[in-house]
Amino acid sequence: MKDRAPTRVGASMGRPEKANERRMKPPPNVLFPLGEAGGSQRLVNSALKVSSSNRGFSQGRAGRIEIEAQLRYCKECQNETVSVRCCESQTMPKEDPKRRLVDVTELITKAMNNTKTGILPKIKGVKGLMSKYKIPECLEKGILRAKRDLRVYKDGTLRYDMIDLPLTHFYPKEISLSLKKAKELGMERAVKVKASVITSDPYQERDLVMPDVNTCTRKAAKEAYEMAGVGPEDIDLVELHDCFATAEMLHYENLGLCKDGDAGRMIDEGEVALGGRVPVNVSGGLLSKGHPLGATGIANIYEVSTHLRGEAGERQVEGAKLGLTHVIGLGSACGIHILEKAN
Ligand SMILES: [Zn+2]
Repeated sequence: MKDRAPTRVGASMGRPEKANERRMKPPPNVLFPLGEAGGSQRLVNSALKVSSSNRGFSQGRAGRIEIEAQLRYCKECQNETVSVRCCESQTMPKEDPKRRLVDVTELITKAMNNTKTGILPKIKGVKGLMSKYKIPECLEKGILRAKRDLRVYKDGTLRYDMIDLPLTHFYPKEISLSLKKAKELGMERAVKVKASVITSDPYQERDLVMPDVNTCTRKAAKEAYEMAGVGPEDIDLVELHDCFATAEMLHYENLGLCKDGDAGRMIDEGEVALGGRVPVNVSGGLLSKGHPLGATGIANIYEVSTHLRGEAGERQVEGAKLGLTHVIGLGSACGIHILEKAN
């Protein structure tokens, strides 16, 4: 079995002062294990001075220290090393991690040459590696980060102070603003979000390369109509996810715009054309305007909002007051919004 999600991307909200990067204590420049040889400051520079006079295991030469790491080998020069790179290519694992003697002087000399570094900056490493395979980071990274005072963080979290963001989505009452005042301020183009729903498809014992976009659209539509307190017969226009010509017809039925099996008749009788009973994709839809993945859903919301504002020009759906947008993400997810002209 493969991992359900080898890489996770999450979002969370916190106090703005928590928007700082997550530093380790002390914050290293490179994940290179130094054991005791780095001293209390965990400096690569200190490890370079360690010799047999003060370390029993360093076999005479300065900079040979004992660390716990995986042993690797270079396919090009056949040398054994703890580095992930050698001879311009990636090295291969040779032996499981254990305590072994490593010549840090040799590694740092190579790294200084590779980065064209004359004077070695102070590079903070770590005492030991916590990962399973214990593969040290390249010292080149340590040199480059140390020169620019960059640290390795605890994780890859992206943090952003949300109070720097402009406020675009709000109810007037949330900011103690009357609708009358909002209009005086020039906000007559406002659009009200009547429903915002996202669903995933239910578990089924089917081929997972055949996502069930029908069920998840039907679930989302049902929830959205309930949330908005309207039915499909109230909708003035629709922008739906017509990634293929057949998808558009399936979604007429999934969104309840017609009875099952009636999609073809809707097209034949012009019900979904501009000027028809419920115009669908007067923008041209995905097949005409393009399908830039995530931006597709935003484009559908933009299109419907443009009609509700009466700004759609030649393709304007006359008197549009209530619009529905629909987007699919394979895997599967369905997002439906019901938007209303605010007045
Ligand atoms: Zn090599």
